[in-house]
Amino acid sequence: MRDLKREEEPTLEVCEKCGKPMVIKWGRNGYFLACSGFPDCRNTKEYTRNPDGTLTVLASTRPSDQTCPTCGSPMVIRRGRFGEFLACSRYPDCKTTSPISLGVNCPRPGCGGYLTEKRSRRGKVFFGCSNYSKTKCDFVSWDRPVAKRCPLCDAAFVVKKVSRSSVRLRCLADGCGWTAEPDEDAPATPDAKAS
Ligand SMILES: [Zn+2]
Ligand SMILES: [Zn+2]
Ligand SMILES: [Zn+2]
Ligand SMILES: [Zn+2]
Repeated sequence: MRDLKREEEPTLEVCEKCGKPMVIKWGRNGYFLACSGFPDCRNTKEYTRNPDGTLTVLASTRPSDQTCPTCGSPMVIRRGRFGEFLACSRYPDCKTTSPISLGVNCPRPGCGGYLTEKRSRRGKVFFGCSNYSKTKCDFVSWDRPVAKRCPLCDAAFVVKKVSRSSVRLRCLADGCGWTAEPDEDAPATPDAKAS
């Protein structure tokens, strides 16, 4: 019988700590990437496998420019079941977490919250107000808010509307109707620009 659990699958990923290749191993929580320099190097990473067989490494934490409101330590960006969020770098000593701001303030008058990326129970991404849990502010958008003033009505932000064939910026303000192609992002399909 083959011992599946001890088999290691080589990958193209390289350990950023010691430069050795990373291999796929089996562990208590399923497959993960581990440094082939183990046990000298104990670097591990999580990954997802793309439909074409390549791997995308999930960074477990990324630095942020925020500081923890509780203890003043830097906050890091962590990835959880419901998307990314800010967590104190002193976790588990400090368990402060907060949603990540999109750099856009909540458009509800007097709310004072900011818009964050959220994930529904079914895993669908949407955008809501950071005050939701405090004041029940129920502003939501299925389209990603972008910190860009509407050139027509001067609304504080516009949204990026992604459809099957195109990506457009759009103003949500009543009666405005401004829409344009995004400056920096290429359209989702190459033929969209061909005409
Ligand atoms: Zn290593
Ligand atoms: Zn803290
Ligand atoms: Zn709000
Ligand atoms: Zn507008």
